[in-house]
Amino acid sequence: MEKTRCLIIGSGPAGYTTGIYTGRADLKPILYEGEQPGGQLTITTEIENFPGYPEGISGTAMMDDLRKQAERFGTDIRRGYIVAIDLSQRPFHAKDDHGNEIEADTVVVATGASAKWIGLPSEKQFYGAGVSACATCDGYFYRNQTVAVVGGGDTACEEANYLSTLCSKVYLVHRRNELRASKAMQHRVLNNPKIEMLWDSRISQILGTDLDGVTGIELENTKTGEKSQREVTGVFVAIGHKPNTDFLAGQVELDEQGYIRVNNPSSATSVPGVFAAGDVCDPNYRQAIVAAGKGCVAAMDVERFLQNH
Ligand code: FAD
Ligand code: NAP
Repeated sequence: MEKTRCLIIGSGPAGYTTGIYTGRADLKPILYEGEQPGGQLTITTEIENFPGYPEGISGTAMMDDLRKQAERFGTDIRRGYIVAIDLSQRPFHAKDDHGNEIEADTVVVATGASAKWIGLPSEKQFYGAGVSACATCDGYFYRNQTVAVVGGGDTACEEANYLSTLCSKVYLVHRRNELRASKAMQHRVLNNPKIEMLWDSRISQILGTDLDGVTGIELENTKTGEKSQREVTGVFVAIGHKPNTDFLAGQVELDEQGYIRVNNPSSATSVPGVFAAGDVCDPNYRQAIVAAGKGCVAAMDVERFLQNH
């Protein structure tokens, strides 16, 4: 059976940064890329807010840079993903999708989180060309334009508020007539003159063309079935995220939403020797620079753990 001092699961900014640091610490880490090599940033276009790229950079190019940097210091990067892991005793025991087994003294889980989508074909068609799940990431591209946000929770309200600072108008489309968000957040949204609530509404179609991108939304009243349209150039889906923790099968303590609980500011999980970094343990910030920073934290925690065990 193959053995490693450190197994890194995930190839987003968190996983690669853990690879850079543990590689430089001569731990010869093994990193599994998963089904999305490079992580979430590979499905976006321009990254303008990651320090070090004054002109911006494409998501794929940035993640290529991080990959090369991790490889340069000896991270053994592998295709495939971890399908099962036994964290009940050290060394930990993992299995990949090809049936290979691996023994690891430490594990860093950096498997990210995935945005939930409404499920419309037009949502897929205009993804990255008017449809987004991240206002902090993409809002800037919609300055002085009219956009719609979908959802009624804290995330949707926060996104709507944020977008109202950049956009000329924001529709908040919610399927019921009452917000799920906290009272304070509701208050902010309902008193924001740039935000118009579209209650009891669901988006039945995102309108546009391949040339122009998104030009509008078709709405359906969830009570009456009545249809209407609004002109918008951007649609921000904010109906929640799902952390990629299913494969852990209850072996590490998670919060109510399924995010890995870490002992902040460290990356330690409820299992000694298992660490977590990035969106998989961060329902709040979900930004690449934060994930990369936490990847560094996890690597340093791994080093310290191995010195003492
Ligand atoms: P991720 O990038 O999600 O990577 C997770 C990795 O885990 C993937 O490589 C996946 O293949 C792997 N994985 C999952 N399960 C397994 C498994 N079982 N075995 C092995 N590997 C596995 N942030 C910004 O700072 N600026 C932006 O402009 C920006 N734009 C964005 C645009 C879009 C469209 C999206 C979706 C997000 C954007 N973000 C942006 C957010 C940013 O992408 C995330 O915060 C960041 O990628 C999180 O990094 P991560 O390493 O935690 O996880
Ligand atoms: P959430 O609380 O689960 O809210 C999801 C919202 O999306 C709900 O309003 C839901 O409608 C709606 N929704 C779900 N599926 C939908 C679909 N298919 N089509 C249309 N609408 C759909 O998720 P969240 O807002 O991401 O918040 C997650 C957690 O993080 C919460 O605990 C929240 O308090 C917390 N959070 C806190 C802050 C903050 O305090 N600053 C910020 C962000 C998030 P229904 O209401 O009808 O179910």
